[in-house]
Amino acid sequence: MFTFQFDQLNRQGEMRQDNAFIKSAIDHPNTLFLPVFRQTVSSTEKGANWLSKSELAERVGKLSDIHFIYLGLIDEQHYFAYRVSGQQALETISSNSSNLRSLIAVLNERDSYLVNVATALNQWHSVHQFCGYCGNETYAMDSGFVRKCSNQECAKQHFPRTDPAIIVAITHTDDKGHEKILLGRQSTWEENRYSNVAGFVEPGESLEQAVKREALEEVGIELSQVEYITSQPWPFPQSVMLGFKAKAVTTEIILKDKELENAAWFSREEIHNLIKAEKLILPMNYSISRHIIDLWLK
Ligand SMILES: [Zn+2]
Repeated sequence: MFTFQFDQLNRQGEMRQDNAFIKSAIDHPNTLFLPVFRQTVSSTEKGANWLSKSELAERVGKLSDIHFIYLGLIDEQHYFAYRVSGQQALETISSNSSNLRSLIAVLNERDSYLVNVATALNQWHSVHQFCGYCGNETYAMDSGFVRKCSNQECAKQHFPRTDPAIIVAITHTDDKGHEKILLGRQSTWEENRYSNVAGFVEPGESLEQAVKREALEEVGIELSQVEYITSQPWPFPQSVMLGFKAKAVTTEIILKDKELENAAWFSREEIHNLIKAEKLILPMNYSISRHIIDLWLK
């Protein structure tokens, strides 16, 4: 299941500055709130622990306007994240609190998407408490989508950021028409887990350049025919993964930057046989990494 693709959320970005609208959304009896601290949300065994406003107030105490993040509207129902001030505060709200990675298996498509938005935004708030221009404190506004510098002479506005990263399925067809895909692994991963070449886009670089550079750095392979496939929000902590496929022009693998401890070419048959023999583990089935490998395997 290629996840974080839920498309029923109306973010209503044009309403975020409308305080009367946001207040009425907060006060609406059907509105749901998800307490969040850093990358962790209040949870139950079944998934995200959505609360009504009165339940939230019961557990948090006095609610503060600047702690609400307006996520948007789904089927006439408003959804908010509520930023709490510490892990302890989150634990007093419910006995469970979990990060998104550990919740993915139990969250439905809507909640995995919303928890992703909530934790990515909250992570941004956590690390933008101070103005990067003048060093003074910032404060949240526009329903959690802007932070503004409290120094009136500076007054710079800061906006949530998303870090673009590329991931690429590199393939090669030899003289006899045999197709193979290149997969590699990092030393910190569990044994036998392999994935695609991936990395962050650098400043001043096009996405296609980033794909070619990462392939050269990680596996010493030159690429051609770099083609975009699809993307996936990647909330660990706040990226968007841009999925590509590309043809290898060279085939000799050289682990130049040592980010990977091993990389190799695999045919479809080899992949099936190695998985059967429990000697190969592909990326998690919710990831774009797995999705672009599966597209090639089909
Ligand atoms: Zn400032």
